[in-house]
Amino acid sequence: MSEEVCDKCGSAMVVKNGRNGKFLACSGYPKCKNTKTLNQETKYSEVPCPECGGKLLWRQSRRGAFWGCEHYPKCKFISKFEPSDKKCEIEGCGGALAPRTYRNKEVYECVKCKDRTPREESGE
Ligand SMILES: [Zn+2]
Ligand SMILES: [Zn+2]
Ligand SMILES: [Zn+2]
Repeated sequence: MSEEVCDKCGSAMVVKNGRNGKFLACSGYPKCKNTKTLNQETKYSEVPCPECGGKLLWRQSRRGAFWGCEHYPKCKFISKFEPSDKKCEIEGCGGALAPRTYRNKEVYECVKCKDRTPREESGE
């Protein structure tokens, strides 16, 4: 149980574990399917900031959500996609590669130069 109250039906909200971390769900489930995000908890990336090694935080802004560095505004690293520990192989770039889907293909996109390379599927 949490302190939060469902704003749809007034029941108490309970903390649940989901795929993207903890969230609040209405205890009136399945009658009420209201859920809330736990805003006290910051989502951190498993990969450190490619620019300074700090932590990457999932931030929400009016223009959308993105990965930003904890040392902002000192470090201005920003990426819409969570970077991996792989580095861009283009000379002089060395930016972090972020796995993403582009035109229905699995690719790595460099957060710096936006170069895309196909992702090799492991296994299968
Ligand atoms: Zn409810
Ligand atoms: Zn940084
Ligand atoms: Zn690059």
